Amino acid sequence: MTLTKKGETKPAPASWGLTTRGGKVPWEYAPAPEATDHVEIQSEYGLFIDNEFRPSRPRASFEVINPATEERLARVARASKADVNRAVTAARRAYDTTWSRLPGSERAKYLYRIARILQERSREFAVVETMNSGKPIKESRDVDVPLAAAHFFYYAGWADKLDYAFPNREPRSLGVAAQIIPWNFPLLMLAWKIAPALAAGNTVILKPASTTPLTAYLFADVVLQAELPPGVVNIITGPGEIGMELVKHPQVDKVAFTGSTQVGKMIARAVAGSHKKLTLELGGKAANIVFDDAPLDQAIEGIINGIYFNQGEVCCAGSRLFAQESVYEPLLEKLKDRLSTLRVGDPLDKNTDVGAINSAGQLAKVEELVQSGIAEGAEIFQPDCQLPDRGFFFRPTLFTGVSQSHRIAQEEIFGPVLSVLTFRTPEEAIEKANNTPYGLSAGVWTEKGSRIFKMVSAMRAGVVWANTFNRFDPTSPFGGYKESGYGREGGIHGLGAYLDLAPNGTNGR
Ligand code: NDP
Repeated sequence: MTLTKKGETKPAPASWGLTTRGGKVPWEYAPAPEATDHVEIQSEYGLFIDNEFRPSRPRASFEVINPATEERLARVARASKADVNRAVTAARRAYDTTWSRLPGSERAKYLYRIARILQERSREFAVVETMNSGKPIKESRDVDVPLAAAHFFYYAGWADKLDYAFPNREPRSLGVAAQIIPWNFPLLMLAWKIAPALAAGNTVILKPASTTPLTAYLFADVVLQAELPPGVVNIITGPGEIGMELVKHPQVDKVAFTGSTQVGKMIARAVAGSHKKLTLELGGKAANIVFDDAPLDQAIEGIINGIYFNQGEVCCAGSRLFAQESVYEPLLEKLKDRLSTLRVGDPLDKNTDVGAINSAGQLAKVEELVQSGIAEGAEIFQPDCQLPDRGFFFRPTLFTGVSQSHRIAQEEIFGPVLSVLTFRTPEEAIEKANNTPYGLSAGVWTEKGSRIFKMVSAMRAGVVWANTFNRFDPTSPFGGYKESGYGREGGIHGLGAYLDLAPNGTNGR
C-alpha cells in the first residue's frame, strides 16, 4: 500500500536569525527547509492487525497534529477492548503457527529486510517523524532513523545465535509481547522494542503514544513490504487505558514499557503475581558533572547535547549540570554564549537545533516547572531568540542559583531546561548526583582516567558517559536503577529480556 500525500513546508521567517548576548549577529541563516513532497500521509489510519489496516470496532478515531504548526496531519483509529483482544489473538496465532517455528536464520532474513527497507526509506521516515514529533530534521535524519535501522541489523545478527549468546542456558521465546512506547523517540523506541522481540522468536502488539503514531503506521507498511507473516507485528492506537487492557490481557507473556514513572508503577502493579516478564524504562534526572581539569569547550558541547537534544525530551537528558566551583564562572560564560547560538524554530529546517515541544500538555508542564524554579528563587537565563507564532515552542533555558531541594533539581522536566549546581570535591559531586529518586544516566567530564573509574562505580546510574553524552549504540545495554525502572534494552541484555533463559537441561529439551 502507498502512504503518500504531499506535505507542506512553511518557509522559515527571516526573523529566526541569531542573536547573541552582545546583540544581533551581522548575518542570518537562509531558510533550509527539508522537502516533503516525497512523503504521503494518509488522512486516516486503521489499526494494523494480521497485516491489514482495519477500522476499530466500534468505529472511533482521534486527531494527530503537527506540534510545530498545530495543523492536523491525520486521524487514527481508537482501539476498543475488543480490538485489543483481536490484536492479541492475531499475535498468539502467528506465534503458535509460524513465527516460533521458524529457524532463527529465517527470522534473521526478515529482520535484515526490515533494516534495509528502513535505510532505503530513511528520508521518508525522517520527515514524517519530524512532522509528527516536532524534533529537528537533522536529528531524525542523523540519529533516530539510522539508529532504528542499526537495531534491526544488530538483532538480526543474533536471531540464529541464541544458544551462543547465552551459554549453558536453553533460550526459548516467551510468546506474545505487549509493547508500549512514548512520544519522544517514536520510531527508535519501536525499533528498541520490536527488533529484539522478533529476533528472540516472539510476536508483538505495539501501542505507540497517541500524539506520535505516524511512523509506527509507516513501519506497518515496511512490515508488508518485508512480507512478514500476518500477525507477527500488530500496531494499535488508543489512549492509556487501551495500553492497560493490553498489559492485562491473559494471553500476553511479556510487557515492555517506556514512559513516565507514574504509569510504569501502575503497569508493575498490574502484572504483579502473573507469569508476565516485565521491562520498565522510566524517567530520569541525570547529573552531568564537569571537573576543573575537563576540556571546557568539549564539555560545553556535551552539556548542550545532553539537555537541548530533542528539546530535552529525553529520559536520560543531562538536566542537572554540576560544575566544580573553580571552573563555574568560565563554564557558565561559555555555556550562555553557546546557548545564544542555538536556533529554535521550524523542525523541518535543516539548520534548526531546537524544534517544537511534542504537545500543548507537555509545554504546559515545562512552563509550570520553569515558573516553580523562578518562584523558588533560582535565576533564569534564556537567549533572546524569537519563537514562531504558532506551535509549541519553548526557549532553551538555564537556571543558576539552584539548590538541591528545588523542584527543578528534583523533578523530571522533560524540556529544554538545565539546572546548574556546583560542587567542590568528587565526594560532594557523587552525593549530590545520587540525590534523586531516579538512576538512569549520568555524565563525567575530566581528563583523569582514574577519576572516571571512581565516579562511574560510585554513581547509581544505569549508563554513565565519560567525556561525551547521549551516545547510543545497539550493542550497549540501556536501563536504570531505582525509579528509572528495571531490565535492560539493547545489546545481549536486551535480547535476554525477551527469552526464557532456563539453565541447560531444565527446559524440557
Ligand atoms: P506516559 O507514561 O503517560 O505515556 C507513555 C506511553 O504509555 C504512551 O503510549 C501512553 O499512551 C501510555 N499510557 C498512558 N497511560 C497508560 C496506562 N495507564 N497504562 C498503559 N499505558 C499507558 O507519558 P506522558 O506522555 O504522559 O508524559 C508524562 C511525563 O512522563 C513526561 O513529562 C515525562 O516526564 C515522562 N516521560 C518519560 C519518558 C521516558 O522516556 N522515560 C517518555 C515519555 C514521558 P497515550 O499516549 O495514549 O497516553
